[in-house]
Amino acid sequence: MGKFAEYLDGKVYSCKHCRTNLARHQDIMSKQYEGTSGPAYLFTSVVNVKCQEPRLAVLWSGQHSISAVQCSTCSTDLGWKYVRVSSPSQRFKEGKFLIESAYTFKENRWHLSYSRSLLKSQGKDKLKT
Ligand SMILES: [Zn+2]
Repeated sequence: MGKFAEYLDGKVYSCKHCRTNLARHQDIMSKQYEGTSGPAYLFTSVVNVKCQEPRLAVLWSGQHSISAVQCSTCSTDLGWKYVRVSSPSQRFKEGKFLIESAYTFKENRWHLSYSRSLLKSQGKDKLKT
């Protein structure tokens, strides 16, 4: 907790604001998720986060008990953890973390391709933002 954050090796996702390491690329279960801000990843495990008290939320996949997940260093909201899932077909999500890609930063050599894709996207229309 606090400043003594855990460090991860390899391809790593960090908090966009304070660069605390959050999760490893290899722990991504799916990139096909949507958070409140847009695209999100489903991780099997994350580090350096704090979870709020579980609450009921109605998501597109049903009513779930979820915990808001925040960066343990800067308290930025990152997404949520699926605590209890009502629908049996969605139960694989229990204990998994939905982290919104807008709040993460790809570490290591990903910097280069990341900034290149940013340059490309500047040429596109952005009606929604
Ligand atoms: Zn942070």
